Amino acid sequence: MKRLLIILDPAHGEEVEGKRSPDGRHREYRWSRERLKQIELLLTACGYTVVWTNTTDAEIGLTKRKNVATQLGKQHPDLVPLLVSLHNDASGVTPEWRQARGVSVWTSKGRTTSDIFADYFIQRIQEWMPEVQRRIYSPTYLDRDFENDFTVLMGDYSALLIECGFQDNREDLSLLEDPKFCKRIEDRIVDSIEDCENYITQKLSK
Ligand SMILES: [Zn+2]
Repeated sequence: MKRLLIILDPAHGEEVEGKRSPDGRHREYRWSRERLKQIELLLTACGYTVVWTNTTDAEIGLTKRKNVATQLGKQHPDLVPLLVSLHNDASGVTPEWRQARGVSVWTSKGRTTSDIFADYFIQRIQEWMPEVQRRIYSPTYLDRDFENDFTVLMGDYSALLIECGFQDNREDLSLLEDPKFCKRIEDRIVDSIEDCENYITQKLSK
């Protein structure tokens, strides 16, 4: 029996403006849902309880996502809830190709399970994805908190939001369209969740 309750939080919705590559061929909402569905299969096979904030292709709103996640946590009082939100980044709002590249991991305020995940995940990314920059918003993980921008990071659960690649950068977009890259991202997210699970299990058994 795994201790973590994994709450998957897919990005945006089909009808949301922007949130796509400048030429429109990449859609963030779809990429996020495709990855999270694969991650759900892998996690379920490992014995995790996996739930979703939103099982539709539509945007339900950040406040609703947060409330649903809080409820899901309450429905599983014996588990430790961890919300995983998966996005693609963009460095501008108008549809133009831009220079910024890389991956960022945002975590809940304070030192929580999400920071344990971020540490493992970022370590793994650096090992196998040197061509993608790690964007560091702050030098220490205790300061890696901009939760005011991310309502889903403010609930009664530990949450992380991964901005995986810039959809308005040609090089990053070619990675996001590469099935091998997508599979590696899925696997590394699952591996890092396993690391979190092991860390928590060890802490709780002491
Ligand atoms: Zn997004």
